[in-house]
Order: sequence, then C-alpha cells, then structure tokens
Amino acid sequence: MGSRRAQVLTSAGLRTAEDLLYYFPRRYLDRSTLVSIRDLIAHPGEVVTVIGGIGRINTVAGRRKRLIVTLSDGSGSMELVFFQGINYWQNAFAVGQMVAVSGEVQFYGRKASMVHPDIDRLQEGDTLEFINTGGIIPVYPSNAELEKVGLNRHGGFRRLMHHVLQRFLGAVRDWFTPDFLAGHHLMPLRDALEIIHRPPDNEQLEHARRRLIFDEFFMLSLQLAVRRRRQGTALPGIAFGAESPTARRLVEQLPFELTGAQKRVLHEIVGDMRTGHPMNRLLQGDVGSGKTVVALLSMLLAVDNGYQCALMVPTEILAEQHFRSITTIVDDLSVNIQLLTGQQAAGKKNPLLAAVANGDVDIVVGTHALIQETVQFHRLGLVVIDEQHRFGVTQRAQLRSKGSTPDVLVMTATPIPRTLSMTLYGDLDVSVIDELPANRKQVKTAIRFDEDRENVYVFIRGEVERGNQAYIVFPLVSESEKLDLKAATEEYESLKEAVFPDLRLGLLHGQMKSDEKDAVMMRFKRRELDILVSTTVIEVGVDIPDATVMVIEHAERFGLAQLHQLRGRVGRSDKQAWCILMTTKRMYFAGRGKSTDEQKQISDLRRRLDTMRDSTDGFHIAEVDMEIRGPGDLWGTQQHGYPAFRIANLLEHGDILQEARDEAFRIIESDPQLRKKEHRGIRELLGPRIRRHLSMADIS
Ligand code: ADP
Ligand code: MG
Repeated sequence: MGSRRAQVLTSAGLRTAEDLLYYFPRRYLDRSTLVSIRDLIAHPGEVVTVIGGIGRINTVAGRRKRLIVTLSDGSGSMELVFFQGINYWQNAFAVGQMVAVSGEVQFYGRKASMVHPDIDRLQEGDTLEFINTGGIIPVYPSNAELEKVGLNRHGGFRRLMHHVLQRFLGAVRDWFTPDFLAGHHLMPLRDALEIIHRPPDNEQLEHARRRLIFDEFFMLSLQLAVRRRRQGTALPGIAFGAESPTARRLVEQLPFELTGAQKRVLHEIVGDMRTGHPMNRLLQGDVGSGKTVVALLSMLLAVDNGYQCALMVPTEILAEQHFRSITTIVDDLSVNIQLLTGQQAAGKKNPLLAAVANGDVDIVVGTHALIQETVQFHRLGLVVIDEQHRFGVTQRAQLRSKGSTPDVLVMTATPIPRTLSMTLYGDLDVSVIDELPANRKQVKTAIRFDEDRENVYVFIRGEVERGNQAYIVFPLVSESEKLDLKAATEEYESLKEAVFPDLRLGLLHGQMKSDEKDAVMMRFKRRELDILVSTTVIEVGVDIPDATVMVIEHAERFGLAQLHQLRGRVGRSDKQAWCILMTTKRMYFAGRGKSTDEQKQISDLRRRLDTMRDSTDGFHIAEVDMEIRGPGDLWGTQQHGYPAFRIANLLEHGDILQEARDEAFRIIESDPQLRKKEHRGIRELLGPRIRRHLSMADIS
C-alpha cells in the first residue's frame, strides 16, 4: 500500500498483517435485521437497520432545538433526530447519499423515527451487494484520519481486509492441536479469522467468535497461571504447623460463635499456611462480615509457630482502630502487638523498630510506614493487607520482600463479580465470606426527595435523642463545581445554625489535613459529636457502632460501589440502622422528551438507587454495577490494570472464561515450562503474542 496509508495505519496501531487480521469488525449489518421503512410499523421499540437515501435536512426550533434528517427507501420515509452535535450532523450528510442506520424505532403519530441512530455511509457497490446477496457485512471501527486515506468503516476496510486475508491467511498457524480444538469444540484459528471478517452466516460467525474469545481468555489465564506459579506454588515457603493453642483459646473466649463462612475461609487459609509454598490469598467479604477476626486467628497460628506478622491498613486512623480492637480481643493471651505509624516520634519509634528487628514483637499493625526501609523484621511469616484496593502493586511486592517468602493474605470489602475477580485476581486464590453474623440487622434503605427534607431532619433528631449518631454525606467540598450541588461546608453551616442548633455537629472533608481529619473522626467515635457532615472521605472502614443513620445527599451522583461502601459505615452493631438516599424528583422521574443518551443516564441512576433500596447483598450490587458501567469502568479496576479485551466480554462470556481458565491452569500445573510436544505450539506461537497483545499491569 501507499506510504501515506501505511503511516495512518501505523499511528492507529496497525503495523502488521497480524494486527489487521485481529482488527475485528465493530459490528455487522445483517439482512436479518434489515427492515423497509414501510414495515417499521411492525417493530416499535425494537432496534433494527434501515437502508435508504438522505432527503431533507432541517433544524427545528422548539422546546429543544433539534436536527431532523429525512430518510427514504422507496417504501416510505422516516426521520432521524439529533439533539446533540447538530452542527456536526448537519454537515455530515449530503442529500442523496445512501446510508444504513441502526437504532430503536419510535413513533410520533404515524411517522417512524430514530433518535441518534448508528450511521454507516454506504458506497454504491456495498449497497447492491448487501441487498442482492443478503450477506452479513462487517463494519469496522474507523476515525477521521483513517477515512481520509479511504479506510472508512465500511467498504474501505472491507476491501483492505479482503487483500490481507488472501495474502496472509495461509500463514496463520494454530497454537492448539486438533485434539485440543475438538475437545473444546473450537474452530481452527485460520477459519475463525476468515469468518470473523467474512461471515457466511450467523451460526458460523458465532462459532468463530467463540474461538477468538476463548483465545483471549486463554492468553490472559495462561499469564495468570504462570505468575501464580512463579510467586506461589513454585517457591519454597513456610510450612506452618497446624496447631495454635492461642488461636484455640481465643475462639473459646470470643463473645460470639464464628459463622459458617468464617470457619470455611479459616480452613482454606490454614490449609494454605500448612503447605510449603507461600500463600497468596484474597479474602473477600462484605463490610461487617468479620474479616478481622479471621485475620487475627491466622496471625496467631503464625505467632505460635514462632513467626512475626504484619497487618497493614491504608490510613492511620484505621491502623489505630485495628490495633485497639485487636489488643482488646487478645488482651490476656500474652501476644506482643505493637502499632507503628508515620506520625510516631523517633524517641518512641526507635525502640519499637529495635523490638521488631529482634523478634520481641509478634504482630505489628501499621500503615505504609511498615514497608519503609527502616523496618526490619526478625522472622516475618504472615502479611495481612486490609482494604487492599488502596495498596499499589509495588507496595505489596516491597512488603513481601521483607521476609523471605512470607504468606500473604489480602482482604477486601469491595465485592467483585466472579468473572471480574477471575481476571483481576486470577493469580490469587480467593476465599469469600458470604454470610453476615446472625445478630446483624439489615440496614433499611429509603429514597427521599427534597420535599421530604423536613421529615428526614425530624428522623435524624429522633435517632440522636435515642443516643445514636448520624452521617450526612455530600459529594463535593466546594461550590465552585457546576450544577446545583450544595457544598458540604456551606450546608454544614446552615445545618448547624438553622436545623440542629442544639446538637453537636462536625465537619470532615478531603481538603483537611490528615491529622485534622483524624481528630474530627476521633471526636465522632468518642461520641462528642452527634452528626458528622462529610464528603466521601469517611468511606474507609471506620467503625462507629452508635452511628445508625447514613444520609447521602445527591445520591444520584454516586456510583453503586461507593453507595454500598458508604452504607457499610452504619449497621455495625445490633441496632437497627438506616440509609437515606436523597435525590430530586426531577432526576428520579424525568426521562420523557430527552435524547436516548440522556434517557439512559436517567434510567441508570434510577436503577442504581432502586438497587440500593432493594438489596444489601454486595455481590448482587457489584453485578448490577458491572452491567451498568461495564467491567472496565468498575471502581478500582483502573489501578489493577484491567485487561482490555478485543472481543471477549466478562458480562456475556463467563462460561468461556471458566473453560479457558481451567485449561490454562491445568496446562501450567502439569507442564510449567510447556515442554510437552502437545504444548509446543502454545509456547512458540502464543508466548510472544501474549507479551505483545496483553500489556496488562502486574496485578499482584
Ligand atoms: P469487616 O469484615 O468489615 O472487617 P469486622 O471484622 O470489623 O468486619 O467485624 C465487624 C464486627 O462484627 C466486629 O465488631 C466483630 O467483632 C463482629 N463479629 C465478627 N465475627 C462475628 C460473628 N461470627 N458473630 C458476631 N459478631 C461478629
Ligand atoms: Mg475490616
């Protein structure tokens, strides 16, 4: 091809024939969803494709300015409606041009319309082929630069792919053996790559997709399996003895019985600790599910075996909280537990560091300070990391390097859908506490509007008079932001002066210094404050048993994961707790007469609030979150280096993921170096591609 075209392709990341073979169509125009305009009357509300010529292009003033484009196909005419980007769309069309439009069919009167449809400009030949042969026509992702060199998402790319397939398909070799393919009902790679670009029919297209999705999951899983071996099963670790008299005594002393789920995960952890390989386990459990006591019992096992433990948390206040609660629990068990924070003065800290280095200290609780160079352990055996999404990869690696190869238990209260956790934490073993202690009352959640505000205040006052405390959370700190968000600071002043002049209110926000924040939090904890007005900084796992009310202002602005985390701040005792989601009727009930984008936003926010009202199950909430936002946008996944799939989708392809993953782990377990004859293709062909295609950040 010409050098200009080659240059544009290169800057789009398409350098080699292989890059192009793996440049999959974004979607397909399929005759089976093609409808003539006259027949649209039979498909209201459905998403269909129409091919036609552009007629009139008009802007219409009115309650909302919009662009109306008439489309005709010989059987009738319809309207394409645009509310946004009017100038752009006005110039994008030329009268008489042939386009294929896909979108939801709406009717206002007898006239069919589509709002912001997907549009493909067609060339003469395409249209004829499409209509005459009834084939499935691929539509490629393109952009302005590519279009300039003739690579529009339709004909241009298709012709290029035609050449690439002809010239290079023969060079494609499969990394899987015919037996392997047969065993997993997979199509040969060469066929799959041809069909994905030139599908003869839908059935074969599905089959080709399945093969390519399998490959993507397999590549990822293979990488995870290798990493898991490298940092776990292949390394020598500490084989702890199973007996821990101290842990046994603690279980007897606890004022409660461990839940079935706590016993089960403890069993899994102890099982890991007894093997001669380092543990790499993730402990997932919703807020309040009792992860701390599980971690503590595991640490006592290590201590009884003569090892030291480190418990690492994200903030100083959490470190103190953990330290206090743990020391109370193990009060008379003669275990030496110490708190190490960044704020301790050197005079106090130096002897402490010495005691850690000579082995006098059994358990060290702390923040990032724990992984500083100055902290040397005598015999570090177990590292527990709480609220792990706050910790970066390197920090974990650093801490791990403190001991030879200590066992590592990471704990998170962020529930993650199973398919996502298989990809994010695929190299960790996962334990899940899926049961709350029996004495726990479910937090009751309600949605309230501005009109109900007086009642909400009366309710808060009632709870405070009963000896309880309340949070009122705002999404922002200062009113400089757009829209009508009430800044926490201003609202705090008016709540204090006008609404609750007789109560004790405190303010907490992200722009305060961390010792100021800690001071306010401690006052709330010590019951010197009745109501804490705050931005989202209280998100982390601070335990205030008397807090029974969580009011979230502008709840529609928060993501589901965040709402769930915030709600988890209340209901941490046997008292009934309440979560009140404040929003406006305008937001909650709106929707009519808006563009599809806006309608989707509104229905998403309503779905978020309804989900919170109807469920307290963190895993269910996480699934809904993934459905609404897509896995790539889930809270915290960015910093984990969530892999970008080309064709696979965690929401839809969970079963293929499971199959590919099982197979990858089985292969690496039985043949870690991929030396066996049947694995040679995987090593030679897939190995280099894994390095090239998946630049996934190191995730553990
Ligand atoms: P999280 O999983 O959020 O870290 P915690 O470990 O802080 O939860 O436990 C929350 C509270 O529940 C603590 O006060 C703890 O003592 C208590 N708890 C833990 N396990 C049980 C149980 N099996 N029965 C009753 N209460 C429990
Ligand atoms: Mg906790």
